[in-house]
Amino acid sequence: MYCLIMLWFGLQCHLQCCATDLNKLFSLSVCVNSAHGLSTEQREFQKVAFDFAANEMTPYMAEWDEKEIFPVETMRKAAQLGFGGIYVQPEVGGSGLSRLDTSVIFEALSTGCASTTAYISIHNMCNWMIDTYGNIEQREKFCPELCTMNKFASYCLTEPGSGSDAASLITTAKLEGDHYVLNGSKAFISGGGDTDVYVVMCRTGGKGAKGISCVVVEKGTPGLSFGKKEKKVGWNSQPTRAVIFEDCLVPVTNRLGQEGQGFNIAMSGLNGGRINIASCSLGAAHACVQLARDHLLVRKQFGETLSNNQFLQFKLAEMATKLVASRLLVREAALALQEGRSDAVSLCSMAKLFVTDECFNICNQALQMHGGYGYLKDYAVQQFVRDIRVHQILEGMNTPCSP
Ligand SMILES: Cc1cc2nc3c(=O)[nH]c(=O)nc-3n(C[C@H](O)[C@H](O)[C@H](O)COP(=O)(O)OP(=O)(O)OC[C@H]3O[C@@H](n4cnc5c(N)ncnc54)[C@H](O)[C@@H]3O)c2cc1C
Repeated sequence: MYCLIMLWFGLQCHLQCCATDLNKLFSLSVCVNSAHGLSTEQREFQKVAFDFAANEMTPYMAEWDEKEIFPVETMRKAAQLGFGGIYVQPEVGGSGLSRLDTSVIFEALSTGCASTTAYISIHNMCNWMIDTYGNIEQREKFCPELCTMNKFASYCLTEPGSGSDAASLITTAKLEGDHYVLNGSKAFISGGGDTDVYVVMCRTGGKGAKGISCVVVEKGTPGLSFGKKEKKVGWNSQPTRAVIFEDCLVPVTNRLGQEGQGFNIAMSGLNGGRINIASCSLGAAHACVQLARDHLLVRKQFGETLSNNQFLQFKLAEMATKLVASRLLVREAALALQEGRSDAVSLCSMAKLFVTDECFNICNQALQMHGGYGYLKDYAVQQFVRDIRVHQILEGMNTPCSP
């Protein structure tokens, strides 16, 4: 009990010192500096990504959201910087960077537009799945154009009747000669209808995970069609549609790995996907902490700027603390995955769960600090809140009881 009281007292004193040192708190350069601990090379491409976000994304993110524009040309510019195949091998056009490097880049890009960056992260995941599980012909056929983002990819696991219970999927792929005949449909597919390459999990065998295979279906294949574009709360800079297969003929040569390996391929893609989507949440939270700080510095109530209010100082210090803690967890998970550690899968899930929840709360708190202005579309904070809400739902649903 004594220890607990001392811990609490120490924390309060520390926060108070932090909070009352306005220069430190409101510069936030020390406590939320995302370059801490990075190598010189990592700092360099982080700067490239931050600059790209500031110049090529931030000025347009509201318009992409409002008009539901999928910013193809902007993403191709990002690909020129190596962001179309960040952790894909260089032999097929990738940048060959590590999972930590990837996280650093997605966090920085997301400060410019979390929705667009999240789609780029899904595209990277599909590209990596083909690079990792494809044979040399498949890698050479698909990866180079995915790396330049001349072509775009979608990940197709969820079905109308199978979400959290993904291994119960019922889209069938029946072998007939040198083709699979696909029948069924996929729900909520990011990029669906606008993308060119569909990485599809389908049933070639019996019930359960072991009956699932992974095939690549190309746009234009007879029997492939799309549902209507979904109207969404956020993620409006990327389309979401159902993907429908009706006697869709896919060459056997488009199967990744062995028959029955599809579920493992899907899950191994998602390990990295979870770090990536958590990194996108980090970027949004990073941007929102800064937006909140800027607002508190200029907004006057009760005769002084809100930044002089000690409660709000505490709140901002708490948000910055949670942001830094979240970043540390994401980076630890990224390192574990890169090193193939036995705790990697658990850490990726933990990072996804913790960070997407914490970062949503940070963004929502930042909106609250803006008062009524935070609810207006002229202020970017509301878009970050709307865009990262879905990170708590996809790539492994967070528990509904999360705060
Ligand atoms: C905008 C958007 C984009 C998406 N993009 C893609 C994509 O590109 N590719 C793709 O494959 N999928 C995509 N998804 C789908 C997403 O992955 C699923 O929505 C998610 O897996 C949850 O499935 P569900 O919606 O069917 O919810 P359900 O599985 O029906 O879950 C509903 C609720 O029940 C809870 N629940 C379920 N089972 C249990 C249990 N056993 N115990 C306790 N609680 C439980 C869940 O936590 C949740 O709260 C996307 C979704 C959205 C909204």
